[in-house]
Amino acid sequence: MKISWHHSLLGHNTFGMNVSCACYAEYDSEAELTAFFAEGGQSALPKPFLHIGAGSNLLFTGDFPGTVFHSGIKFIREVPDRTGAPEKLSVEAGAGTPWDEFCLWCAERGLWGPENLSGIPGETGAAAVQNIGAYGVEFQDVVSAVRCFDAVTCSVKTIRKADCRYGYRDSVFKQSAKGRYIVVSVIMELSRRAVPRLGYGHVRAAAEAALSETGQESLTPGLMRKVILDIRNSKLPDPAEIGNAGSFFKNPVVPRSSYDRVENYARSRYGQDYAVPHFDAGSGFIKIPAAWLIEQCGWKGFRDGNVGVHDRQPLVLVNLTGKASPDEIIALEKKIIASVYDIFGIGLHPEVEHI
Ligand SMILES: Cc1cc2nc3c(=O)[nH]c(=O)nc-3n(C[C@H](O)[C@H](O)[C@H](O)COP(=O)(O)OP(=O)(O)OC[C@H]3O[C@@H](n4cnc5c(N)ncnc54)[C@H](O)[C@@H]3O)c2cc1C
Repeated sequence: MKISWHHSLLGHNTFGMNVSCACYAEYDSEAELTAFFAEGGQSALPKPFLHIGAGSNLLFTGDFPGTVFHSGIKFIREVPDRTGAPEKLSVEAGAGTPWDEFCLWCAERGLWGPENLSGIPGETGAAAVQNIGAYGVEFQDVVSAVRCFDAVTCSVKTIRKADCRYGYRDSVFKQSAKGRYIVVSVIMELSRRAVPRLGYGHVRAAAEAALSETGQESLTPGLMRKVILDIRNSKLPDPAEIGNAGSFFKNPVVPRSSYDRVENYARSRYGQDYAVPHFDAGSGFIKIPAAWLIEQCGWKGFRDGNVGVHDRQPLVLVNLTGKASPDEIIALEKKIIASVYDIFGIGLHPEVEHI
């Protein structure tokens, strides 16, 4: 275990918060992690413990008083496929493998599965925790099992997908197992047979345009990946250029009566034909894009000193100057929540985890 005291976290969070932790501990293998805990090495480290990936979904609200762990387990390898189906291939990736490296690896080999999730920042272990999602696909559509180190029993166990309790940006690792399981690797089931997923937003139109531009007869995972990366790059700020943690708020899921109020507001403002973007969430509930609500409140492109709201995607709060403090981000977050509540009576909740 590589241990460093009073370690800066500036390079470990994409928001660019200039904070530090009392102790930073990084390991390179499952064996190293297991031996460290089995020998009681953790008892000498300051608490609380926090395991991070690339810090692309975190807002550090100040210096962290305990120990931050990070996985350096990086590999991608084929493993025996439990289905035995000729078109299937099982692949295992270490938790510290950058997620997009895994997507690229699949695309280069013509393997279908994660292509719509291309370009999402962060590491593979965190992808399993977050159930990342984009363009109509979620991590749970690709994974078959997650291997975890159990800090209580000091052993590694394999958790089948069904037991990961995946939901919208949610999993057992964010709920009852939080703090107990450290993801060490993930096993994914890929397909050699073409299974493009085109149903979300403008993805089909963009894929058709890419086919006619390239003269290719049919879609490949590589071309789908390019289509998705082009869409993402046109909308989302690159954290290497401007600090951010992606979508700051979750899309609210509201009862029909709340949605009706929003629709009345929009039609009185834009005319009776106006269609509020929304998705049926089942059981009489409606999901409304938080980005739309925030934009209606006039926040898109807002700037105030070191912080702002992205001018192409109002769901993304940004560290404009690279010098923003956690308090400045939190003050902006509170103002946005208050204004959406004042106008629509809907409470927004952060997707970004506050530490
Ligand atoms: C520009 C931008 C675009 C984004 N777009 C998307 C998108 O389209 N879809 C989407 O779903 N997300 C998106 N995100 C959010 C983010 O990239 C994902 O949530 C990602 O999975 C976080 O990975 P990370 O490695 O940075 O994890 P971190 O932010 O470091 O951690 C996330 C959580 O996982 C836990 N964790 C990390 N590693 C482990 C481990 N090995 N074992 C146990 N727990 C662990 C942490 O404790 C924390 O609770 C975006 C972010 C940015 C900055």
